[in-house]
Amino acid sequence: MNSELSRRVFLASASTAGFALQSPAAGADKPALLGGAKVRTKPFPGWPVAGAPEERALMDVLHSGKWYRGSGQNVKQFEQEYARVTGARECLATCNGTAALFISLNVLGVEPGDEVILPPYTFVATLNVVLRQHALPVFVDTDPETFQIDARKVEAAVTPNTRAIMPVHLGGNACDLDTLLAAAGKHNIPLIEDACQAHLAEWKGRKVGTWGSAGCFSFQASKNLNSGEGGAILFNDPDLREKAYAFHNNGSGLKFIGANFTYNSSGANLRLAEFQAGILLAQMERIQQQAVRRTENAKYLTSLLSEIQGIAPEKQYAGCTRNAYHLYMLRYSAEAFSGLKRETFLKALAAEGIPASAGYSPLNSQGFIKEVLRSRGYRRTFGEQRLKEWEERNHCPANDRLCTEAVWFTQNMLLGERGDMEQIAEAIRKIQAHAGELVKS
Ligand SMILES: *Cc1c(COP(=O)(O)O)cnc(C)c1O
Repeated sequence: MNSELSRRVFLASASTAGFALQSPAAGADKPALLGGAKVRTKPFPGWPVAGAPEERALMDVLHSGKWYRGSGQNVKQFEQEYARVTGARECLATCNGTAALFISLNVLGVEPGDEVILPPYTFVATLNVVLRQHALPVFVDTDPETFQIDARKVEAAVTPNTRAIMPVHLGGNACDLDTLLAAAGKHNIPLIEDACQAHLAEWKGRKVGTWGSAGCFSFQASKNLNSGEGGAILFNDPDLREKAYAFHNNGSGLKFIGANFTYNSSGANLRLAEFQAGILLAQMERIQQQAVRRTENAKYLTSLLSEIQGIAPEKQYAGCTRNAYHLYMLRYSAEAFSGLKRETFLKALAAEGIPASAGYSPLNSQGFIKEVLRSRGYRRTFGEQRLKEWEERNHCPANDRLCTEAVWFTQNMLLGERGDMEQIAEAIRKIQAHAGELVKS
């Protein structure tokens, strides 16, 4: 780290603390939540970012009259481009990230009665696709330092019924692929990467989503590459891509063209539209530069926040050579803030002009899972004993704790200037200096 920078940060935090000690009433820098002036009045950069290229892409599709992949070329072109940028052999575009996961589970043979290993710290779609297959979700606890699935605990969760391991590259950070691939390989179980938040992230210099049997991406509106809704799967195996193509096209493959509406497999319509692919091709022009900006700002923010007691920015495994920073995640320790509750800390931050979120609730203890497992289909498939054992095993204490400590900033907040990062750190230091007053308020 730049030593001039760390010196400045040290002086800044030391002077804030000193000032607070000398004048507890501290009128000038009173927290905004208690009526003081905000640290930041400007909004953070907006999302999505779009302009003339996106407009042209939409109009071109509109006027061509070729609105779906069967008649146009955009979806095909996007697949080629996304495969090129990620270094994958094959790519299939899908209507969204949930569909990408759903298709992958289907073509890799996850069926009712099977088990799928997944993390409890993820978006609900990772779980929903497992439940839609009438498979059993087996949650493996989180490594709180990185916010990723604790790969060291995965092998102990494997049983003869495990049919897929589905880790998530959460927040654009990379999970420990070496350990996960070793466990998957040893037991001959396919690894499905949920890379829905990890566009352009890398493990040992190679893009995430290209390491497992399938790598799934989302282009939903909040994601770093976005077309409102959309998704893609990366494959290294052309046969698997062919199967997935057929599945996403109502069972009609590229090779088998049935006459008179006859088919040779079952599937669904999960295709991406030409309009969306047009937008994605235009957005592809922007993502490299945006990714570089996020990384620069995130690294700077980490250097600033690491100086603040009670703030622990997410760590990366040594193998993670590039973090996509879909989220900037940290752990907040109330003890270092005079016992200030995380909820009040978030309110105080928002009042300073810094929006932040508490992130996910523990997915493994969502009430609806038990309802699904009590359903007729699940009881018939698994039997009461297996479901009871599932409930007894379903504990992720590290994740439960992480869910009480997490704080997230969204990716768009990293798209601005270095000064924005300084204001985030400044707001946190200000809240810390006045935490005692905020606790009493
Ligand atoms: C967004 C997301 C999905 C689902 O993608 P959609 O495009 O919204 O269907 C799945 N998993 C994770 C981790 C996600 O963040």
